[in-house]
Amino acid sequence: MQFIDLHRQYEKIERQVNSRIASVLDHKGFIEGPEVTEFEEKLKEYTGVQYVLTCASGTDALTIPLMAYNVKKEDAIFVPSFSFFASAESISLAGATPVFVDSDEKTFNIDSVDLEEKIKVVLEEGKLNPKGIVAVDLFGLSANYYKIKAIAEKYNLFLLEDAAQGFGGRIGEKKACSFGDVSGTSFFPAKPLGCYGDGGAIFTNSKSMYEKMKSIHVHGQGKDKYENNTIGLNSRLDTIQAAILIEKLNIFDEELKKRNIVAQKYTDMLNSILEIPQIPQNYFSSWAQYTVKAKSKEERNRIVLKMKEHGIPVMIYYPVPIHKSKAFRMIQSWNMDKTEHLSEVVFSLPMHPYLEDEEIEKICLALKDSIR
Ligand SMILES: *Cc1c(COP(=O)(O)O)cnc(C)c1O
Repeated sequence: MQFIDLHRQYEKIERQVNSRIASVLDHKGFIEGPEVTEFEEKLKEYTGVQYVLTCASGTDALTIPLMAYNVKKEDAIFVPSFSFFASAESISLAGATPVFVDSDEKTFNIDSVDLEEKIKVVLEEGKLNPKGIVAVDLFGLSANYYKIKAIAEKYNLFLLEDAAQGFGGRIGEKKACSFGDVSGTSFFPAKPLGCYGDGGAIFTNSKSMYEKMKSIHVHGQGKDKYENNTIGLNSRLDTIQAAILIEKLNIFDEELKKRNIVAQKYTDMLNSILEIPQIPQNYFSSWAQYTVKAKSKEERNRIVLKMKEHGIPVMIYYPVPIHKSKAFRMIQSWNMDKTEHLSEVVFSLPMHPYLEDEEIEKICLALKDSIR
């Protein structure tokens, strides 16, 4: 059994994907070919966001907007520590200072009460200037944007949505990638919408931000290749990856429905034996991960071992909170109790649209056996 089974998806769309790749090989516009523009148009349509810029990775999809905001070392950017490393790495890459925020134990997303606390602490300390918030749509669930946006407005901060795992999710009818002043997503193969390599996209309704970011993503270029106005990057989505993504986007909504059915089956079978993920009312998750909680670190580690014995792949996202990583240990951080607890008890079950009923049952039975 695979944790994420990309083979079954490929079997379904093999002919379409191969023919799209063949067509790129035929026209040879490998960099910024017509498929890139076609895919950007499709992303606009899908998310309802006005400007979309594809780039080379989800990490760049966060770094480029932060570079466009022209952040400095004295600028504090608030970010949850319970996330993938790149959520904070991008802040340092762009030259600013991350300030870590605790997460909500039910939704795994940034805790809005702690967010305001940390902003106040930074203001009182007076060393850094609060500048922005990076909110993460962890495991496919959009963060609490009602509250986060109000805080961003109150303290005059920009809001960057890290939707690397969130693409396809929504709150009511509003889609992920439309919640930030700028939003970034990833097309890494294991994400809800993945390509066959690295890739990312940036979303905004601000024309001026779009223009700055478009320049930064190709060496800070101006009117042409040899006019360079700022320091930028080389961060483009390959044409072949765009071609693959166009075909994958065609079946994406159907896959989202299937992911939600899988999640519901897990929930029905597991809710009496352990703490299952909570989806707030009016939210629709893209189920990048199905993440549950054990009662203690010891129990979690025992379960993970036993599941391996049953031949079931389980993963731990994330065993080390970002503020405890070697790279960020020297950054000052205040009270992160909930994050530290989460990193000790969470684990994730296989999740993809092509899980069969028998597999789900097998996983749940193994889990029941592992908990006893
Ligand atoms: C995967 C991921 C990223 C980075 O995306 P890449 O495409 O791997 O660079 C950033 N943030 C989160 C929350 C992620 O899960």
